[in-house]
Amino acid sequence: MHAELLRTLPKPVCAYLYDTAALRARVSAVRAWLPASASLLYAVKANGHPDVVATMAAACDGLEVASGGELDLALAAGARRLVFGGPGKTDAELAAATKAGVLLNVESLHELHRLAALGDNPAVCLRVNRPGAGLPGSHAMTGTPTPFGIDEAQLADAMRIPGVRVIGFHLHAVSNNMDGTAHAAFVTDALDWSARTAAALGVDLRTVNVGGGFGIDYLHATDRMDLAPLASVTVPDGIDLVFEPGRYLAADAGWYAAEVLDVKTTHGRTFAVLRGGTHHFRLPAAWGYSHPFTVVPVDEWPHPYPRPQARDTPVDAVGELCTPRDVLTRGQHVDLLRAGDILVFGRTGAYGWDISHHEFLRHDPPAFVIVQAPFPKET
Ligand SMILES: *Cc1c(COP(=O)(O)O)cnc(C)c1O
Repeated sequence: MHAELLRTLPKPVCAYLYDTAALRARVSAVRAWLPASASLLYAVKANGHPDVVATMAAACDGLEVASGGELDLALAAGARRLVFGGPGKTDAELAAATKAGVLLNVESLHELHRLAALGDNPAVCLRVNRPGAGLPGSHAMTGTPTPFGIDEAQLADAMRIPGVRVIGFHLHAVSNNMDGTAHAAFVTDALDWSARTAAALGVDLRTVNVGGGFGIDYLHATDRMDLAPLASVTVPDGIDLVFEPGRYLAADAGWYAAEVLDVKTTHGRTFAVLRGGTHHFRLPAAWGYSHPFTVVPVDEWPHPYPRPQARDTPVDAVGELCTPRDVLTRGQHVDLLRAGDILVFGRTGAYGWDISHHEFLRHDPPAFVIVQAPFPKET
């Protein structure tokens, strides 16, 4: 949690810490559980900080990008291999990706026509929204009406579009699945379905991309999806089975730290008002849960006036925005919490800063501190 480092930051403390050694350690741990021949890409949208992207470009087999901006970042990071997905790619993005030799995951027949019109005859994977292939998790993307992928009933028509070479399927299905056994069954089923469908459509099958979606349980300090069942998935010869998780690789390598500016009680409820909030870390508000925090006590209080504090009571950790929805945590018990102490929110390395509405109220952004043990670098 880097408490000593946090106490040395400029006050009032407001920072994201990203630990690149922790990123690399998680990549190694995940690789150890995946089938030996599988490819591991990192989904850049979870955290696009350039140092994180560079670390993952080196540690993983490649990167998954979802926009022209992420594509530029990934190219700058020197990724060995890139895939590009997303339902709304522009012609400029398709052209840039094709030029860079990126494998596109194509999301509709219209997109196939537009890609073919560029004239490069690129290899592509078809992203498919299969019926009945859902998984438990927080954001289902397949097996239900969504903007993602091609309906299975339209695959035969997709194959009739000349000017692209279909080499496989992309079947990313869910976000934040906690059930490793169900995930392994999903991957095995994805491989079987891909082989059957490729045979029926006349596809020379090379790639089966099963996406990401490995889950993290934010309410319990270290709980996450058990990857062990994935190790026993059998990958047919000649098939590149691709995983592209984001959250699971990056979440535990990030901490969001915010100093307590004020502590007060109104109508019987106690609030810790932070230098920070949901404009930096939107996930708890977006998902409707309380993100646990740890208190880093700061004993100095150089002021002549009393120090606001709460003792042995539940507090709500709220931000500096002028809206009652700027809440990171509700009702977490504290023994002692004072203005000037620092709250640290762990597991914020994925979908933290990157999904937040930074400009609302125009407060200063947090500092971003890259921990490269033993020397931290502030950017
Ligand atoms: C978001 C996304 C991922 C990563 O999902 P996680 O839940 O972070 O693992 C992978 N592939 C695609 C296509 C995505 O949209």
